[in-house]
Amino acid sequence: MAIIACAECGKKISSHAPICSHCGFQMGEVSEEQFEVFRARKLRDKIYHLNMTSYVVMTAFVAAFGWYWWDSGGFEHPSSAGPFILMALAAVAYLFVRVLLLRNRHRQKKLRQKEFMRPKFRRKL
Ligand SMILES: [Zn+2]
Repeated sequence: MAIIACAECGKKISSHAPICSHCGFQMGEVSEEQFEVFRARKLRDKIYHLNMTSYVVMTAFVAAFGWYWWDSGGFEHPSSAGPFILMALAAVAYLFVRVLLLRNRHRQKKLRQKEFMRPKFRRKL
């Protein structure tokens, strides 16, 4: 087994892989099941990254609230606009990420309901 560069994206892949695990470029004959495994893995990675993004956004919101507390002297006087802008941005970003997560989880659920997404198949993910 050798490591080669994908003809499409240039990333390193196994010479035996019929499909690039990064971009989905097909090197040879690809069965429908192999393509579904690729799609399911991509979806899993996407959901993982969306989850990470939602944690980052939540942290930004908490940080903005801390900034607000600091800037207002422990809620003693009005603070500058900065904390509110950051809180609003974080809230909007959070909602956006949650909507994307919901859509992708729905796709993942549908994919798993397919005939070949039985436990034997799922172990490859
Ligand atoms: Zn590729």
